[in-house]
Amino acid sequence: MKISWNDFVEECRNCQACPLAATRKNVVIYRGNVVAPVMFVGEGPGATEDEQGLPFVGQAGRLLQLLLDAQGFSMNDYHIANVVKCRPPENRVPTDEEAKACKTLLGKQILICKPKIIVLLGKTAYTLFTGDKSAKMTEIRGNFIEKNGYYILPTFHPAYILRNNSERIKLWQDVAIVRKKAEELGLMAPLPSVPDMPTERPSSKQDKA
Ligand code: SF4
Repeated sequence: MKISWNDFVEECRNCQACPLAATRKNVVIYRGNVVAPVMFVGEGPGATEDEQGLPFVGQAGRLLQLLLDAQGFSMNDYHIANVVKCRPPENRVPTDEEAKACKTLLGKQILICKPKIIVLLGKTAYTLFTGDKSAKMTEIRGNFIEKNGYYILPTFHPAYILRNNSERIKLWQDVAIVRKKAEELGLMAPLPSVPDMPTERPSSKQDKA
């Protein structure tokens, strides 16, 4: 069944399929391009995202954006979303039930977005997306999993990198791996030169996502 983007957005905005509907200010669906070669998926919206109705616009989102910009990603190249579209109170981790309830919407979103590469930001997103609870992020990050025609890459959540800035190089390397794969697949043109990792901290506002 084909679903239009507008119908999908409407369905998300009206969704009451899990208890998070009761406390949300906004349903946080995406930012970037509707159809994009690379999709980034985090665990769930934080306070800033809930306020603005956009994912990854808090401090961690600004760090991610810093790295994407430096790797030459334009807004047409990515679609950023979360496993759950409504903010878990106090920024707690979404429950399995909430993730399960939201999975149908995420599935539809992937069908409309048509990414070739899906980047899972953080262990929680990885676990909720794949069901694999035993993997260690330090062991799986930066390695593609090929499944159902998608290249799926787990990496660190930028909020973790904000707390552990010495690890920034690892997220940077993983974003570079994504960029390289997109180039190999003919989805993005090669960069003219190898970019340097930005070392500045994103401007501060309180929020985890
Ligand atoms: S988190 Fe997802 S399933 Fe739960 S109410 Fe929001 S949109 Fe619906």
